[in-house]
Amino acid sequence: MKVSVIIPCYNEEEVLPLSHKRFSQVMESTAHDYELIFVNDGSKDHTEELLLGFANDDPHTKVISFSRNFGHQNAVSAGLHNCTGDIAVIIDVDLQDPPEVIPQMIDTYLKEGSNVVYAVRNKREGETFMKKFTAKIYYRMLNSLSDYTFPVDTGDFRLIDRKVLDAFKQFPEKHKYLRGLFSWMGFKQTPFYYTRNERAAGRTKYSIRKMFSLASAGIFGFSKKPLKLAISLGTLSIFIALAFAIWIFIMYLSGKESIVPGWSSTIITIVFLGGVQLFTIGILGEYIGNIFDETKNRPEYIIDKKINFDPHNNQTI
Ligand code: UDP
Ligand code: MG
Repeated sequence: MKVSVIIPCYNEEEVLPLSHKRFSQVMESTAHDYELIFVNDGSKDHTEELLLGFANDDPHTKVISFSRNFGHQNAVSAGLHNCTGDIAVIIDVDLQDPPEVIPQMIDTYLKEGSNVVYAVRNKREGETFMKKFTAKIYYRMLNSLSDYTFPVDTGDFRLIDRKVLDAFKQFPEKHKYLRGLFSWMGFKQTPFYYTRNERAAGRTKYSIRKMFSLASAGIFGFSKKPLKLAISLGTLSIFIALAFAIWIFIMYLSGKESIVPGWSSTIITIVFLGGVQLFTIGILGEYIGNIFDETKNRPEYIIDKKINFDPHNNQTI
């Protein structure tokens, strides 16, 4: 059996030498054939040089280098499109997900006969309270908004088999939210519990902007409920306005309120309705933006270099 390990890297020169060693050691210790596919996502530091050096010394190490930064999800997609293994493992380069558990995931895969073994973080070490808190809220919100149920506390760290890999190649969509797509696909999926460590070196490469973009890919890619929010909010404000009108009418009849123009209530109503309208237009904008990106049909990523890949077994779709 051949195992492809897909490792996206963006400005990871600090951690790469250690990571490459740990990944190689772990995979050498298994009885399986393997390939380490490092995807350089347009790094601006020495990541590419380091990777080319590893690939030069070790035929198991393969490198895909993008023409610029296309983002983590696209880097993983490129690895999946180009891998030749019977199974693939998606894992971060920063050793937060310990490579040492890969053999255990392979055992689970073989024992359970499952198509996907997804890693669930039962503990997260060395991450800020804010990151853990927002992640917890986000995954639960996604589940309540979406028509599908996604496993919580699960990232992209997972093992998938050839059936799932082949199914993945049929997804032409651009804004990929991989963890969502894999659980949407179905097949036999088994959880695998592990402790997420601290980053071995360097700082997070997921800026707030990238985190928001991933979060919105999840929500707007898997739920139509935000579109329906306009109807609920509109109905609510109509009822509030009606109640308000009735209240003013009663006050007027009872003579308690003279018809002094209620300046503050007018302003509050205008601002409130303005806010509701802008909010719902913003939601429409998100979906229309996604439709725009999909119809342009541009490639998800552009490859600059491919090293150590077999030219006769070119798996790129
Ligand atoms: N990454 C990437 N492209 C990006 C940002 C991140 O390929 O634009 C990679 C990064 O090198 C790492 C993985 O995605 O292997 C996860 O990123 P990071 O560890 O910085 O995120 P965090 O664990 O802090 O959420
Ligand atoms: Mg990390």
